[in-house]
Amino acid sequence: ACTSGSDDDSTLTVCTNVPFAPFEYKDGDEYVGFDMDLMNRLADRLDQTVEVVEISFESISSGEALNAGTCDIAAAGLSITEERQDAMGMSQAYYRADQALVVPTGSAVASLDDLSGLQVAVQSGSTGEAYANDNAEQYGFEVRAFESMGDIASALSTGAVGASIADLATWNEMIETASDLQLVQTIETAEHYGFAVQKDDTELLDEVNTMLDEIFADGTYAELYEKWIGE
Ligand code: GLN
Repeated sequence: ACTSGSDDDSTLTVCTNVPFAPFEYKDGDEYVGFDMDLMNRLADRLDQTVEVVEISFESISSGEALNAGTCDIAAAGLSITEERQDAMGMSQAYYRADQALVVPTGSAVASLDDLSGLQVAVQSGSTGEAYANDNAEQYGFEVRAFESMGDIASALSTGAVGASIADLATWNEMIETASDLQLVQTIETAEHYGFAVQKDDTELLDEVNTMLDEIFADGTYAELYEKWIGE
C-alpha cells in the first residue's frame, strides 16, 4: 500500500506488540513467532521483505495505527470482533483463542469467584480488558490496564496486582519460564485471531486471505502450528 509508513514498495510494514509469545516476541534483535512466520510467507508472495513496527497494542486494536498509515498490516494475536471489522479490514480466522486467569504462585485465588476486592491486570485495548470490564462488578474486582504483557507479568510478580486475565496460549508460554506465576482458570471466550489491514486495502486483504487458504491446504499451517504452539 502506498500510504504505508515505509513508501518503499519492496517493504511490508507489520505493526505488532511484544512480548506475545508464541505469536510474536523478540529473539535478540529479531521478531519471531507464529504470526511472524505467516507475515514472512505473505511478504514472499508479494516479493517484499518484512519490516516490523513495534507499537502499543491499543493503537493496533483500535485501528488507529493502520488507518494513520503507520504500517501495511497488523500481526498481533488480534481477535476478530465486530468493532474491529468496522474499523479495519480483517482477514479470515487463523487461530482459535480463549482467555485465562493467572495469579502469583501460592495465591489463594483459584477462580473468578475469588477475585473480590482484588486488582486484575489486563492489556490495554484487548478482548481480555473487555471481558474484565464486563465482569468486574459481578465478581467485585477492579480492572487495571497495562501497556504490555511484560508489564503485566512484572505487576503480578511484585504483587502490585492480584491476578490477570489475558490470552490463554500466551499465558501458557509465559508461565513456562515464570515459576512465580500460575494459571488457575481457563475462560472460554471462543475468539479467533485475524490479521488486520487498512480499512480500504482490499488488495492486501485478498493477498492475506489467499496466503491463508494456501497454507491451510498445503500443510504449512499444520507445520507452523506444531512448531510454535504444539498439539
Ligand atoms: N487477542 C487479544 C485481543 O485481540 C489480545 C491480543 C494481544 O494482547 N496481543 O484483544
